[in-house]
Amino acid sequence: MSHVSDGTLARMASIFTRIIRGEIPCHTLYENDLVISFLDVNPLSPGHALVVPKQEMPELHMLSPASAAALGAALPLVARAILNATGATAYNILQNNGALAHQEVMHVHFHIIPKYADGRGLGITWKPCPIDHASAAELSTRVKQDLRA
Ligand code: 5GP
Repeated sequence: MSHVSDGTLARMASIFTRIIRGEIPCHTLYENDLVISFLDVNPLSPGHALVVPKQEMPELHMLSPASAAALGAALPLVARAILNATGATAYNILQNNGALAHQEVMHVHFHIIPKYADGRGLGITWKPCPIDHASAAELSTRVKQDLRA
């Protein structure tokens, strides 16, 4: 946030908004009215790309339906082209929301990260534990109530 001349607070443009405006260079892969995709500046593997809504919102659940739909349409298009261009046959989609969840740029984005046989790509630590059916039933009820509201 920054102060503007009348004393009110203005939100600073995110680094991705500055890329969308053309103020910062990037290796663009795809663009339409609602979405842009470009290569990540610090890739985990060759072809690591970001798919970003032009709507400047920090987290996924804040997006408009139009932005969300445009992201959903762009992801498979861009992923397919990255596979074709890199020769990768596997990839992960990663989407972080909140600093606690490792989000660094507070503007919604999806990572497309090709995974190669030599291990380059996303490393995952996954620690599952069996579901507790009583608390799961209660949680499912609360979520469904929220969705109906
Ligand atoms: P997050 O942890 O927020 O999900 O990931 C943010 C990603 O944005 C990181 O992978 C980082 O390398 C990438 N990134 C940050 N700044 C820039 C930039 O200016 N240009 C590009 N192309 N990628 C960026």
